[in-house]
Amino acid sequence: MVISPRPGFWLNGDMGLADNVEQIEQRIRAACERVGRARDSVLLLAVSKTHPPETIRAATDLGLTWFGENKVQEAKAKIPNCPGKARWHFIGHLQSNKCRDAVELFEMIHSVDSLALARELNKRAEQAAKTMPILIEVNVAGEASKFGYPPEAMLADLQAINALPRLEVHGLMAIPPFAPVPEKARPYFQKLRALKEAAEAVLGAPLPHLSMGMSEDFEVAIEEGATIIRVGTALFGERSGRKADPPA
Ligand SMILES: *Cc1c(COP(=O)(O)O)cnc(C)c1O
Repeated sequence: MVISPRPGFWLNGDMGLADNVEQIEQRIRAACERVGRARDSVLLLAVSKTHPPETIRAATDLGLTWFGENKVQEAKAKIPNCPGKARWHFIGHLQSNKCRDAVELFEMIHSVDSLALARELNKRAEQAAKTMPILIEVNVAGEASKFGYPPEAMLADLQAINALPRLEVHGLMAIPPFAPVPEKARPYFQKLRALKEAAEAVLGAPLPHLSMGMSEDFEVAIEEGATIIRVGTALFGERSGRKADPPA
């Protein structure tokens, strides 16, 4: 598996990284202020997929801690070469044959989208003597091209997932349809927040997390209650091959 892309790319990316971190931090603070939220109610998850360990090191040197990867294979090769203070969430589509590795590598899985997957994760967590925090991914726009539970199916499976002893349901995650105008994503963020409330009613317990908002629309997501924003391009620059490999 090739992690390092064309020479020179990371140099350019890293030179801009400090500025990008600072700008994004300011934008997060401003969005929080607009809606009266505390800055520490939002976790910035730096989406480091396709980027090499040197970039992670530059990011941890700048104070970033949380990183998101969307492929288990890539993460397995990369994480051992990254600074120990980097901490990892899994945000991609998870196949059942990757659950064992995922449980070892990640502190949270954002993308549980079936009861079968939840059961497999539970089994692997049990074998590893771990408890795994998870989010349930919801396909908020009903897009055929996207993974994630249809909302009703999520609510129907919620109790069964929550009953798995080695999983802790922490909330919901969504990837709304790509829109060049951030405001277009707002209704989907509102929908995910409403679904979290519906899920809390089913469980009779609060769910702390809403994972929503990416480079294009994280400010709107914060205004609508995001507690984890997943930001890649705005931090690290364009990924090579991005057009051919859109977010899962
Ligand atoms: C790649 C990816 C992101 C980050 O996307 P950017 O537009 O680069 O910020 C966020 N979430 C998921 C699930 C992704 O796969």
